[in-house]
Amino acid sequence: MSVRVWVASRNAGKVAELQHLLGASFDLRAWPGEQLAEETGASYLENAMAKAQVVRGQTLDWVLADDSGLEVAALGGQPGIHSARYAGAAAGDLENRTKLLAELGALPGASRLATFVAVLVLLRVGHGALAATGSCSGTIAEAERGVGGFGYDPLFISDELGITFAEATESAKAAVSHRGRAARRLMAELQRSGRFDPRPDAR
Ligand code: IMP
Repeated sequence: MSVRVWVASRNAGKVAELQHLLGASFDLRAWPGEQLAEETGASYLENAMAKAQVVRGQTLDWVLADDSGLEVAALGGQPGIHSARYAGAAAGDLENRTKLLAELGALPGASRLATFVAVLVLLRVGHGALAATGSCSGTIAEAERGVGGFGYDPLFISDELGITFAEATESAKAAVSHRGRAARRLMAELQRSGRFDPRPDAR
């Protein structure tokens, strides 16, 4: 029997990826409530914690939150924690990618280095909280490549894979991605800590 976990996110791409990463023992669902936290923190951890805490206030189930971003060295680490709203508050993935390509212009590959970062927070009323971070490095492509994934995936050429995350299979991305690394660390920490009881009826 799988354990219900509410994901404090409306990003369907993220929720699907997290489900793949955590596996069938967890039943991940996007939190349906209106109330999700504004991302006003100064770090990925602050934002992930705030997102998770808002949902924790409304359920006794487990809650998982992810805050992530793309840090581009030539842009001083931007968009970073502002990645989701890089091209404006109402901007979608395509607009964000278009802005990133415009900002980098014709810079050569060696000047297009980037790092994806993800922080995951898992918590539950009465069980404390666990957090884990993951990162991966790559280069921003000069044009979009591939149709898989979400967000900046068509522009991120993974150092380890040599292709963009949008060209990679879900499993190949999971093996090297920031979120994959964070998820594996979180699961290891979960088992080590003994603070969480995976039985669905354990409160
Ligand atoms: P937030 O964590 O919901 O604030 O948003 C993170 C931002 O970074 C969004 O724009 C995502 O599309 C982007 N992002 C985070 N992780 C990934 C990824 O694995 N692939 C592509 N874009 C990502």
